[in-house]
Amino acid sequence: MGRIAYVNGRFVPHGQASVHIEDRGYQLGDGVYEVWAIFSGKLADAEGHFARLERSLSELRIAMPMSRRALTLVLREAVRRNRVTEGLAYLQVTRGVAKRDHAFPNPPVPPSVVITVNRTDRAAADARAAAGVGVVTTPENRWGRCDIKTVNLLPNALAKQKAREAGAVEAWFVDDLGFVTEGASSNAWIVDRDGRLRTRDTNANILRGVTRNTLLEVIRGEGLDVDERPFTPDDALAAREAFITGAGSLVLPVVSVDGKPIANGVPGPVAMRLRRLYIDRAKETAI
Ligand code: PLP
Repeated sequence: MGRIAYVNGRFVPHGQASVHIEDRGYQLGDGVYEVWAIFSGKLADAEGHFARLERSLSELRIAMPMSRRALTLVLREAVRRNRVTEGLAYLQVTRGVAKRDHAFPNPPVPPSVVITVNRTDRAAADARAAAGVGVVTTPENRWGRCDIKTVNLLPNALAKQKAREAGAVEAWFVDDLGFVTEGASSNAWIVDRDGRLRTRDTNANILRGVTRNTLLEVIRGEGLDVDERPFTPDDALAAREAFITGAGSLVLPVVSVDGKPIANGVPGPVAMRLRRLYIDRAKETAI
């Protein structure tokens, strides 16, 4: 059985799935998205991703296309039809199809909804975590509302390409004051030279990562100290450990910044332990 996508109320073969050329997501980047990790066919951190979806939509004044409950059923059905047990579910909601005009269509049109599901090779992902990954740094050049998870990802795409061309896996944006904001598709963390966990606070212009948030709960539950405050690339290079978090990367150790090793250049024990704890928690609470 081939891959199946969901497009505006219908499950269709992936190869035939399409939206109209005047969809405002395609024309103007006028839309948002969410990504859920799938464990054993279930949606991880479901509530957090739904809450952020609703917030992103409301900030852009796009209506929620259906209830949370209905969306959960559709996402699960998409996962089931694709026979994916371990993977990622992608949901995109745009303002809909309308004659091209920057201002919103009036009266409003129905939002466009697309879902795709991809399989993850967990053994390969675990091997990558065990080896650790490199990051490169790049100047922060995104807009001022990175808290909204919009489909406008051009700076992120360019940053990720820079990483790939350098043999790295992620790019960390660095703001005008020299502090890391976040990765192109992940939040950034260090275990500083004193052994304290540190990640950028969400008053900064970053995405409020759902994985970040759950991991903060896990960390506090373990009685570990964590500071939500900025760090520089040099802080990361002087740190004991670094890692990134996201629905795709889960908790992934970082072993180099711009080609220079962090500590002895291998994943640290805290990052590896947090990866295990996060995955256990995500599996337990997946729906
Ligand atoms: N920051 C950015 C820019 C992202 O695109 C993502 C995920 O796609 C994250 C952080 C991590 O967010 P989450 O943990 O909710 O997947």
